[in-house]
Formats: sequence, structure tokens, C-alpha cells
Amino acid sequence: MKIVSNCPLCEEKGLHVIEEDGIGTQQCINCGYGTTSRFIGTKEDNETFKTLPEEMQSWSKEANDRIWIPTMFTLPFGTLYPVNVDGEMKWGFAEMVDISEEEQKNYPDERGGFYKQKYDTDNAKIYDVFLDGMVEMNETAKADNSLRTSTPE
Ligand SMILES: [Zn+2]
Repeated sequence: MKIVSNCPLCEEKGLHVIEEDGIGTQQCINCGYGTTSRFIGTKEDNETFKTLPEEMQSWSKEANDRIWIPTMFTLPFGTLYPVNVDGEMKWGFAEMVDISEEEQKNYPDERGGFYKQKYDTDNAKIYDVFLDGMVEMNETAKADNSLRTSTPE
């Protein structure tokens, strides 16, 4: 069962609670913060929290006896992620782009080959509000689909 309730951080009704994924995910689609049962406790005593990168730790918040972490969404066509802009946390949206053949040698994969696509984080769009980034991501997904269906195979 999936429940939508009020988020303890931003107080908007955007919190999705997923009970049966085994880790008790709670994800707010308004402010972009999420938590799981691995993050029950406080920043001082939670072991999983201590394994996060320092920047993630500094952006995390405590509420409802849990630690809340800024979410990173990665989809085949783009990624939405927290990013440091002049010392402030913003949301970046980077589209998946093709890497030119000359450049591919700079992007080795783990299998001895080279990546042909990457998330274009150098040209990420920056948002103050997570939800705005989500909207952009949805629009991109739609455009991507219409492109595919209108192209003859
Ligand atoms: Zn929220």
C-alpha cells in the first residue's frame, strides 16, 4: 500500500510512504527529501548516516526520529540531484547526452570499453525547488517518448 501524507520537513502533502518495499521508504516529492528504515535514529548514532559523503551529511535533516537525505533520482534520460551552488543546496537536472567519438576515450567503463552517453552535469539546469525539477524531468520524459513513437523503426 502506498500512502500520501504530510511531509514532516516541508509540511506539504507530498510524502509518499511505501510500506512493503522492505526498507520502509518515505519520499517527499515536494521538498525532495527521503528516508528509509536504515536512517532511523539521529545523526550521532546512525551508522549508515556516517557512511554518507560529508556534503550529504551536512544537507541531511532530522525529523520523526529519522534522518532525511536529499534524494538523487537517476533515470535513463536524465538525473535530478542535490548540488552545491555557492554554498547553498540547489537541485540540478542533467540530461543524458551522447559522448562524441573523440571524447569517448575519456570515459572508460568497467568492462574495458567506453561509455557512449553521460549525464550532462556541466550544463545542468538549476532549481531552488525540487518539485520544479521534477516537473522538468516529467516534461523531458514526455518529449523523449513522443520522439520515439513518432520515429519509424
Ligand atoms: Zn517535503
